[in-house]
Amino acid sequence: MPQIQIADQILNVANLFCVGRNFAAHAAEMGSSIGEEPMVFLKPTSAILPAGEPIPLPSWSREIHHETELVVAIGKGGRNIDPAHAMAHVAGYALGLDLTARDVQAEAKKKGQPWTLAKGYYGAAVLTGFVPVTAIADPAQLTFTLHIDGELRQHADTRNMVFNIPTLIAWISSRFGLTEGDLIYTGTPEGVGPIQAGETLQLVLPGLIDQSFVVAK
Ligand code: MG
Repeated sequence: MPQIQIADQILNVANLFCVGRNFAAHAAEMGSSIGEEPMVFLKPTSAILPAGEPIPLPSWSREIHHETELVVAIGKGGRNIDPAHAMAHVAGYALGLDLTARDVQAEAKKKGQPWTLAKGYYGAAVLTGFVPVTAIADPAQLTFTLHIDGELRQHADTRNMVFNIPTLIAWISSRFGLTEGDLIYTGTPEGVGPIQAGETLQLVLPGLIDQSFVVAK
């Protein structure tokens, strides 16, 4: 079972919830519209890439896209959590890549099939280390970036999230329930694109997280 460490706390990862279309400019670049409610899908925990391992490029896809996202770790579960109390359920934050086999996803969309393979294959959930919830005063006022081989590819400002973190926690808890160790990938900003063998992907949350991953050759 995958585990994460937040300061001196170890959590067993339970569920991986991922939010789609949570930045208007990304929804637009995908030709999608923004929903009235959050759009949530799941990845299996086996999708988590162990720290230090190269990012695999599966043989059955020609197009693995990076989606850089803020990841929220749930420290205290619950159902029907009130948005006003949602932040008390957060244990910490990381950055992550919701890697997506875009060609396989496009085919699935066309056929009306689920995204499970396109988004849930082994290695599709990249995670940096976590910082404790106390390290970030207001997660609604953060910026984070992805550089590939030194070039800026994605820049997010969490003020542009369609559904903020308390809203996501409340919504997910009211439909699925939340459990200690759940992770929420909160959605990507615009600028998604393909990754190539040998590239270095650097995820930065200024002053808190700076971690690089190499794409396997
Ligand atoms: Mg995503």
